[in-house]
Amino acid sequence: MTIDRTVNTMTATLAGAALLSRRAATATSSTIRDLLELAARGDVISLAGGLPCPEAFPTDAVRRATSTALDAGSLQYGATRGEAGCRAALAGWSDVATDADGVVITTGSQQGLDLLARCLVDPGDAVVVSDPDYLGALQVLRGAEARLVAVATNHEGLCTDDLAALLAGGLRTKLVYVVVNFANPTTATMTPARRAHLVELAERYGFIVVEDDPYRELWFEGPPAEAIGVGSELVVRLRSTSKTIAPGLRLGWMTGPAWLLGAVERAKQTTDLHTSTLSQGVVTALAAQDGWLAPHLDRVRSLYRVRRDALLDALGTVFGPELDVVRPGGGMFLWIDLPGVDSAALLPRALDAGVAYVPGAAFAVDTPRPGSVRLSYATASPDELHLAAQRLGEVVTDAWDAQWAGPAARR
Ligand code: PMP
Repeated sequence: MTIDRTVNTMTATLAGAALLSRRAATATSSTIRDLLELAARGDVISLAGGLPCPEAFPTDAVRRATSTALDAGSLQYGATRGEAGCRAALAGWSDVATDADGVVITTGSQQGLDLLARCLVDPGDAVVVSDPDYLGALQVLRGAEARLVAVATNHEGLCTDDLAALLAGGLRTKLVYVVVNFANPTTATMTPARRAHLVELAERYGFIVVEDDPYRELWFEGPPAEAIGVGSELVVRLRSTSKTIAPGLRLGWMTGPAWLLGAVERAKQTTDLHTSTLSQGVVTALAAQDGWLAPHLDRVRSLYRVRRDALLDALGTVFGPELDVVRPGGGMFLWIDLPGVDSAALLPRALDAGVAYVPGAAFAVDTPRPGSVRLSYATASPDELHLAAQRLGEVVTDAWDAQWAGPAARR
């Protein structure tokens, strides 16, 4: 009986799989989301997911704002573009000049990306991304059957000279995707010169720049340069409350050219009708609290700054000055290189030792980076970060020893 039922289930599953659309059948699961499940084991300190620190959530303020939102009737269906009051508030939080009409509210900036891909990309279209780049964007673009054109990135962000050379050589693209500040995973912030160069190229060759900017407010030493989108009709900006308030609100917003926002709004109608009116009510009520945001953001920044320094110190102690790491000026991540190590192959041993990270391979487009590793310092406490670094050090040292050579010998 049990065997019969198992066989029946398997047969039904196989038959069902044949019914999946081509896109659903070829869609791959995010390595990071899969990892988060493994890393949720109690004995593992996870530096894997980019989960904001719960201590950074303004829980009391959100509780008060929820009550205000309920009093204001925020449980009803709403407009696809978003509630006017919330759009006005988000226009006020935007770093480009806009008003409520210039804002579309999205269910996280991830939905903004998905809607833009639906509005701009036909199968086979060339889309420019950085190599490596944010996995969630790569998933969306691969799902839209874009032809990904990888352009190198370094500590100054996307190498716009390389892009210019490709365009001069005949590349035509509708869309260039960039994470401008404290990028995920490289932590790089694009220099003002490269931002200006990218706009110049967009104007010359007629493509849209998608400026994804969820980490802008998480700066430690000073605010980042002016947004690419200031003054350009070819730039669409994606913003999010996930890292500044709480990701569970699932509330992001988009500013950009009116023709594109109109298309996005129509695409959103079929996706989810609108973003949660309750979340919008909460954000509207938070924004109405005079003087709330600035001290809240100061607190969030100092929390993350302390954690960045804790992880950098701990890694410095474990690996010594040889460690290949750039000190990020903001955001949630460190991007390190462990020469001679295959970080994906090493992950099961790291999990056994009680530490999780994301192998650099997860973010690769064309160039495999076996030694790269993304570490998030956002979720674990400074003490846990020290312990995690020690565990990582032991696992990596064992791997180096097993190859009969230390890091210096492998450079
Ligand atoms: N873009 C980047 C670069 C991200 O790192 C993330 C989240 N990790 C997102 C977009 C999506 O954020 P959300 O949907 O929560 O706004």
